[in-house]
Amino acid sequence: MERTLSIIKPDGVAKGLIGEVIKRFENNGLKIRAMKMLHLTKKEAEGFYIVHKDRPFYISLTDFMSSGPIVVMVLEGKDAIKKNREIMGATNPKDAAPGTIRRDFGLEIEKNIVHGSDSPESAAFEIGYFFNSPELIPLTLILSPQGRGLR
Ligand code: UDP
Ligand code: MG
Repeated sequence: MERTLSIIKPDGVAKGLIGEVIKRFENNGLKIRAMKMLHLTKKEAEGFYIVHKDRPFYISLTDFMSSGPIVVMVLEGKDAIKKNREIMGATNPKDAAPGTIRRDFGLEIEKNIVHGSDSPESAAFEIGYFFNSPELIPLTLILSPQGRGLR
């Protein structure tokens, strides 16, 4: 089992795609271990994308990512990092395979609906950026709920 961080970016939230994106993850066997809606400050967006600080798109990207609410999620499953990136599609929606989120809904390379970690190292950094360990719901509890009337 592997964990990855997913973000539904401001364009995905604005277009009403929260349910559609989550449905695709769930249909592909990824479990949601944690989830919240946030509106990042410019500084928080800059910190999240610090690996891209010297890239020409950094200022525009961090303006965009702080422009409206986002949904951040921890996904878990077998090969979750790769699987999530397959469901998302290539960075540029024009290059993304048919049936991927970015191809189906992305406007252009920046406004491409979703983010997904690209390696175990970035997943660890990115999950820790938004969640502390008590916020991660144990997988056993997700798979077989035990509380309040379900016993
Ligand atoms: N991005 C951009 N212009 C580019 C490349 C990337 O605006 O030329 C944005 C885009 O929103 C992308 C994000 O920066 O999702 C991070 O870029 P990365 O290369 O890490 O792509 P990803 O891992 O998201 O596919
Ligand atoms: Mg990336």
